Amino acid sequence: MIIIMNPKASEEDVRKVKAVVEAKGLETHLSKGDTYYIVGAVGDTSILDPKKLQVLKGVDRVMKVQEPFKKANRIFKPEDTVVNVEGSVVGGGRLGIMAGPCSVESEEQIIEVAKRVKAAGANFLRGGAFKPRTSPYSFQGLELEGLKLLKAAKQETGLPIVTELMSTDYLDAFVEEVDMIQIGARNMQNFDLLKQIGRTKTPILLKRGLSATIEEWLMSAEYIMAGGNENVILCERGVRTFETITRNTLDLQAVPVIKRLSHLPIIVDPSHAGGYAYLVEPMAKAAIMSGADGLMIEVHNDPENALSDGQQSLTPDQFDVLMSKVKAVAKIEDKEI
Ligand code: PEP
Ligand code: MN
Repeated sequence: MIIIMNPKASEEDVRKVKAVVEAKGLETHLSKGDTYYIVGAVGDTSILDPKKLQVLKGVDRVMKVQEPFKKANRIFKPEDTVVNVEGSVVGGGRLGIMAGPCSVESEEQIIEVAKRVKAAGANFLRGGAFKPRTSPYSFQGLELEGLKLLKAAKQETGLPIVTELMSTDYLDAFVEEVDMIQIGARNMQNFDLLKQIGRTKTPILLKRGLSATIEEWLMSAEYIMAGGNENVILCERGVRTFETITRNTLDLQAVPVIKRLSHLPIIVDPSHAGGYAYLVEPMAKAAIMSGADGLMIEVHNDPENALSDGQQSLTPDQFDVLMSKVKAVAKIEDKEI
């Protein structure tokens, strides 16, 4: 339920409304714009009587929120959430460009790629240290050694690092070492993991599940936000359909749909969506045109010999070309990197 205060309501009026809601054992979520205050009530709101709230001083309207997601709902917070990681900004007209290899493979590899993607205009370095592989016999990642190498690459380039966490066993190490924690498609509904990262303050990149609906995806964001961590960025990475020529089907409609339903930033990963390098540039441009707040792009110094996802990785030279195109599209869309 949300209680919209009228523009003339005083801070004291808002405080009283909050107190009435909290006295029922519910949590409140306050959103303040230039001319309005919105008090969101989270919890079992069936015990609240809208008519009683409506008559409180300063209250303009009381509305029931239909959707099951609350804190992630744009009704609760009309203005865009902007996530700022050491000056690299995602949302609110700024694009987060996260680029790097699927897996961290060696110090030389990650540092070389980090330098090249930074020079081309990326503002985050991605790289997997713990890899969710379909086969247990495939390369599983360098694990904690991979985190160390990512940190070394950050030291060289200053790029904040984004990497995937698969198990709560490594949560402390990630909170300590990582600038943005990625939750991969396969773990989008690992609710225990979501609850635990919700208790941290580290920004979270939440990828869409392999066959998740937009509502399920937003409910996963809600799990993280319910724990107190509201720095969530969504990442559309394609969903599984009947199509087999491409790895997944990129659901670009998800971008404007999310923008309508939620205030959270959304980026697009055309690398995992298409599964082939040739699909990355057209879909990256389309993603920015559709209103996305950024991109995640796999870049490898030697895609042919990559230990994972080589077929969809761009070379640093191809990434240079991609970025010149992305910058041109960003200009049209009035976005900055
Ligand atoms: C990745 O980013 O390397 C990855 C495994 O992505 P996804 O979870 O989207 O498959
Ligand atoms: Mn990958």
